[in-house]
Amino acid sequence: MQEKRRPQGEEGINMEIKNLLTNGNKITFLIKGTNPSFVNTIRRLIIEEVPTMAIEDVELRDNSSALYDEIIAHRLGLLPLKTDLKSYNLQEECTCKGNGCAKCQLKMTIKTKGTATVYASEIKSKDPKIKPVYPKMPIVKLLKGQKLELEATARLGKGRDHSKYSPALVYYKGCPIIEFKSKITNPDEVVASCPVNVFELKKNNVAIIKDNHLKCHLCNACVDASKGAIQIKSSDTDFIFSVESWGQLAPRDIVKEAIKIFEKKLDAFSKALIKKEKAK
Ligand SMILES: [Zn+2]
Repeated sequence: MQEKRRPQGEEGINMEIKNLLTNGNKITFLIKGTNPSFVNTIRRLIIEEVPTMAIEDVELRDNSSALYDEIIAHRLGLLPLKTDLKSYNLQEECTCKGNGCAKCQLKMTIKTKGTATVYASEIKSKDPKIKPVYPKMPIVKLLKGQKLELEATARLGKGRDHSKYSPALVYYKGCPIIEFKSKITNPDEVVASCPVNVFELKKNNVAIIKDNHLKCHLCNACVDASKGAIQIKSSDTDFIFSVESWGQLAPRDIVKEAIKIFEKKLDAFSKALIKKEKAK
């Protein structure tokens, strides 16, 4: 059912998506036939609503390091943790009614002493699937005889409550539209002016390298170099959308989760509307 529904804005009917790049934690795709409000809604849903796991509480039992307890707790909170959305509930939506249970919380511990640098990999997690994404992230340096012992509690949270829960860096730009308005008298200079190699020289004329125009970041260097013979605009119906995950979730899953949340919100809105109409 979920796949069939599409945004019903007048431009949204013929929406088309083309994958441009999938590279580890980053995906970029082209969305055609929509509008800025729609793509920005998806962007905001990702950064504010898609939940991830992060350390929320830390109980320090022993800390003789040079860093205060608060700084260590803060550093632990910022560690990206591999997240499994199927196995954990948001605490406020959990059957335990927010009291904290195995379905919405996870205990993690560190017990170590100097001389050593304590890395994220030294966190012992009760759930082997949930662990720091980057094991080499340093937490604190311990000198000889210094100790660190703590118990931390991780839980799911949303970026709107704290940015540590945000799953990704998300951004979009209007698809660049490059137009040749008149004859270019200095093709060499124009080709050389572009910092992202959008153009090439073909029979002593400026031509666009196939698909490279999507790399254009609207710097207008070619407009200046061609003295206005080239004009650049950005589309307000086609967008290049990028998601760079911090590592907790796969970028594709982040987008899917955002769409799911969007549908939930629209369903809630439509139900509220029907209820209001019936009450009349
Ligand atoms: Zn619970």
